[in-house]
Amino acid sequence: MATVEARRISKHFDDVHAVDGIDLIAKEGEFLVLLGPSGCGKTTLMRLIAGLEQPTTGDIVIDGKVVTDLPPRARNIAMVFQSYALYPHLTVEKNISFPLRAIGMPKDETRKKVEWAAKMFGIERFLDRKPRQLSGGERQRVALARAVVREPVVFLLDEPLSNLDAKLRNSARDEIKQFQRNLATTTIYVTHDQAEAMGLGDRIAVLNQGKVIQIGTPQEIYGHPMDTFVATFIGSPPMNLVEDGTTWLSFRPEAFLPREVGSASDSVAFPFRVTRVEYLGADHLIYGVLEGRSPETHVISKLPNNIRVEIAAGRKYDFVVRRTDIARFDRASGRRIDGVGR
Ligand code: ATP
Repeated sequence: MATVEARRISKHFDDVHAVDGIDLIAKEGEFLVLLGPSGCGKTTLMRLIAGLEQPTTGDIVIDGKVVTDLPPRARNIAMVFQSYALYPHLTVEKNISFPLRAIGMPKDETRKKVEWAAKMFGIERFLDRKPRQLSGGERQRVALARAVVREPVVFLLDEPLSNLDAKLRNSARDEIKQFQRNLATTTIYVTHDQAEAMGLGDRIAVLNQGKVIQIGTPQEIYGHPMDTFVATFIGSPPMNLVEDGTTWLSFRPEAFLPREVGSASDSVAFPFRVTRVEYLGADHLIYGVLEGRSPETHVISKLPNNIRVEIAAGRKYDFVVRRTDIARFDRASGRRIDGVGR
């Protein structure tokens, strides 16, 4: 177990500031997720931590020791990237044992380690197969097994599940969470999938344009977004934004409810013209515009299906939001002013 710190770290590729003065600490044993849109600098930050890139300025510190000038192999970090990069001509057993053979570990000990890792990921019966004889999910487990055999002090996982279908992603997510809990190895995990970030992370760092915009638990990030970027990046659908003088009033779709089911006391009412109703199984998404506003203000309500209120496209309704579910953001800077959100 180890702490991993990025201190004022920047990486510039000519005029592209891929990573732009980031300060970040992954605590001992923590599962820290880096979340952000494509191109925000997630992979570059991981490569800096791993030692695959040299920073333009700043330092990487592992367990209090500056490692910026150390090569990757001296950092005791294991990486799993989305391609898995298994050796196609080697069996699963040889793939997993590769890092151990590379450091000259005795055969007996190597065999035990491989058995232990293969058992952890349920791939004992594939040990004699080649990677091409495995499914995407099984390959991913081999890559993880290869990463854990060395018992690294830090795991760096960069979109390891992106090649899997939705169902497999769910079970693979479970497995990753489980093995990380069991080993308690400090883990930094990159994704642009917010559901994955919320489900896996002890904390989430939200990145945009090479900077950390907010870092916190999934509850803090969802309930108290720092600015309109986080408010509209996290949550599906994102928070609604309604102009109100120099501020945005902002509320989650699930807080925007028909008057009949919303809380009447201490709420703000909005006349809502519904343009479209989308059935999602467990919920309905109700799209529409707030009446009497210029420019036209589009908002979305998310209603669980056990709420028995008939809503039809083309009609007007009174919708309400509790004041305690409204956050306010400064329109000029986008920064949060107050409000608890939800
Ligand atoms: P994605 O989710 O799409 O993988 P990311 O958040 O991981 O994106 P990075 O791969 O870190 O983003 O890239 C950050 C920025 O730096 C992008 O604008 C990218 O084009 C640029 N960049 C990355 N590597 C290089 C490079 N070797 N040379 C020039 N620019 C680069």
